[in-house]
Amino acid sequence: MKPAARFFADLAWVDGHWQRDVLLDVDARGHWGQVLPAQTCPPGAQRLAGPVLPSLVNAHSHAFQRAFAGLAERRDSAHDDFWSWRDRMYGVALRITPAQLKVIARHLYLELLQGGYTQVCEFHYLQHQPDGSRYDDDLAMAWALAEAAEEVGIGLTLLPVLYAHAGFAQPALRPDQRRFATDADWVWQASQRINAAGRPLLNAGVALHSLRAAHASDIRALQALVGDAERPIHIHISEQQAEVQDCLAATGQRPMQYLCNEFAPDARWQLVHATHSTPQEIEQVAASGAGIVICPGTEANLGDGLCDLPDWLAMNVPISLGSDSHVTRDWVQELRWLEYGQRLGLQRRNVAAQPQSQPSTAARLFEACRAGSAAPAGFQRWGLQPGARADFLVLNPQASGLLGLPDAALMDGLVFATQASAIEQVFVGGQCRWGEGARSAVAALSAGFAATMLDLHGKA
Ligand SMILES: [Zn+2]
Repeated sequence: MKPAARFFADLAWVDGHWQRDVLLDVDARGHWGQVLPAQTCPPGAQRLAGPVLPSLVNAHSHAFQRAFAGLAERRDSAHDDFWSWRDRMYGVALRITPAQLKVIARHLYLELLQGGYTQVCEFHYLQHQPDGSRYDDDLAMAWALAEAAEEVGIGLTLLPVLYAHAGFAQPALRPDQRRFATDADWVWQASQRINAAGRPLLNAGVALHSLRAAHASDIRALQALVGDAERPIHIHISEQQAEVQDCLAATGQRPMQYLCNEFAPDARWQLVHATHSTPQEIEQVAASGAGIVICPGTEANLGDGLCDLPDWLAMNVPISLGSDSHVTRDWVQELRWLEYGQRLGLQRRNVAAQPQSQPSTAARLFEACRAGSAAPAGFQRWGLQPGARADFLVLNPQASGLLGLPDAALMDGLVFATQASAIEQVFVGGQCRWGEGARSAVAALSAGFAATMLDLHGKA
């Protein structure tokens, strides 16, 4: 079949390493037809201007929290931690309208495209009106996110969230959680409606807010509704020590231990913030096939703690990245944070490298996250390979951190030595969504975002 579009890259990341002279054919659906290294550039192919990388999936986002970034970095009392941050974040969550959410998300999604993500998984729990009553269309807030993604051209996996309790021993939500209230039926109906909408680049999975917010009966009810359907199932698992202690007190087991023993997660499951773990829990998760989602920028910002990266990597557990509260919005910085946190904590260097198979730290981390990108979005494949969506990034070969480096060091240069972004162009489904022509869109989106921030927070 004749390709719908044809690209040629002098250097491209195929099968886990850089390869030369790669012909990339896009089919009529916007997926890769063939990906062939060691070719000559045929007439009619578009020659790409720099090294070509797969983009990554951003596996964990709360878009509305973008409207809070930069507003929580002051301490006005003796103590500040995740829980005091959350109380302040709820203050913003209680005010945002669907129209404001669309403006915030549109601006954010363009930032995420620029940051090298072409698919974002929205862990979406801000559902109802500020007073807790339902919108005329129950999915008003979800559609605001879908419209924002569609206008920017980023792929979106919407994950309506089951959120039913304020804690392990709490029968109900707190008053300031009233916009989040859902049950298993609501979440499954929402997921079904989103998938049936037929919007381009939009699909849906489901999510459980956490083990404290979704009790055993809620989880079992949602599992019964999802059945064998190929939907990603996301859950916040073990972000804070306090929730580990609460889980132990309520169930006698740690969060990942409890999840694995009671609910038999499989490869559809994504454990977000697998921060606090024991070696036994890592073994159990590895045996289940579930993946983990790490959000290094947010986890640092919130003082969550460091995950046991060496053990997760050693056990080959699928890993993906999330930007969560959006204090960081590009994966290059997230990978840098991920490795630097480990170096600082362990007082070692090149923690993520694997001397026998992949001695480059950045290459090993990037390839792990590339391989882990498909499942959180409910996809079968991700990257420069036949059948995957034709999403990719073109790097600026003149970026200062890449200058003069041999091919084998380019990924390390990108992650550890660049200052300004080296990403020049971003393609989704074979179409350029960020590059020269798209830059004029930024000013309009920025102005709308700034005006919405003023509406939400005032000038003072
Ligand atoms: Zn989250």
